Amino acid sequence: MVYDSTLRDGEQMAGVRFSQEQKLTVATKLDEIGVHQIEAGFPAVSQVELDSVRAISQLGLEADVLCLARTLEDDIDAVLKCDVDMVLLFIATSELHMRYKLKMTSEEVLERAVRATEYAMSHGLTVSMSTEDSTRSDIQLMLELYRRCEESGATRIGITDTIGCAAPWAISHIVSKVADHTDLPVSAHLHNDFGLALPNALAALTSGAQAVATTVGGIGERAGNVPLEQLVMVLKTLCGRDIGISTEGLTDLVRTVYGFAGLSMPANQPWTGSNAFSHESGIHVAAVLNCPLTYECVPPESVGNRRRLVLGKHSGTAIVKSRLEERGITPSQERICDIVREIKRLGERQGRVSDDQFWRVVEEIMSPPDNRRPCSEDERE
Ligand code: MN
Repeated sequence: MVYDSTLRDGEQMAGVRFSQEQKLTVATKLDEIGVHQIEAGFPAVSQVELDSVRAISQLGLEADVLCLARTLEDDIDAVLKCDVDMVLLFIATSELHMRYKLKMTSEEVLERAVRATEYAMSHGLTVSMSTEDSTRSDIQLMLELYRRCEESGATRIGITDTIGCAAPWAISHIVSKVADHTDLPVSAHLHNDFGLALPNALAALTSGAQAVATTVGGIGERAGNVPLEQLVMVLKTLCGRDIGISTEGLTDLVRTVYGFAGLSMPANQPWTGSNAFSHESGIHVAAVLNCPLTYECVPPESVGNRRRLVLGKHSGTAIVKSRLEERGITPSQERICDIVREIKRLGERQGRVSDDQFWRVVEEIMSPPDNRRPCSEDERE
């Protein structure tokens, strides 16, 4: 199961804020593609934030609506105004965070976690309890905290790699250890500081975690979180595990969120970037024109993207021939080679050769008499 945190951790990305209207749009799109749970925000942050979380709850989505709160009564009171399906309580358990942030002993942390769970439960909330900075925490302390909160009525427990500093085998170790010590479902919230958020999510899911936090396009604090679209595609395509999220809307979703966040999508973003299904090399294009699976794992349409055959210095005859055939033009092989030679020359100088430039080259070469030299071997590729 995925609980998507685009609207909470995603929005906590430095410099990013979403308007309420944008949040409603994103929540609706997440729901449309079948995301199971939406972490809608952190109501204690501000009245505006609280209003947004409540507005998302009131959309009546299929997805559960979750929100975040510290183990403080005021935070929980703010959550109570939002009518959510679950509150995600968190408290730090690492020495660093207890000493320098909370200024609390581990016993005080345990007590406060239990008190908050009881308070939230007594007000009718469904509680998930996470230990912040789990990957740098004493696992015995975490297990004790989970045990006590389970006794107090929490229905899910969460492991976090708050600063993204654990390797997949460490995540596997922690998740399986925790899963062995509880009857509750375990969730994992993971960061991408070492570029390991996605492998860590897979490690968590294969070690006993039932839920993983994602964000659209992997946005979030610092290096971000587990990219929703990448996790869904790995599970579906490489693990044969369809978690019920339809993939056709993924490109639109990532573009929408990046647009709202004021981010430009990297061309090589997996699945959704403009280069994710782009081919320039003559060898690749010739093969793709015959059978796209030669250089694509899945069809671009399956993630809502499209194939782009790009002209440039690596181009070969296949793309030129196919472009011309689309317009019913069937020149001699020599002419095609002349065109390829000119495209390569332009590509060498400037990189990508535009469609306009291509047709100008075609026009120029097709008009004079056929007195050009034949193709060399490598130009035929
Ligand atoms: Mn986080």
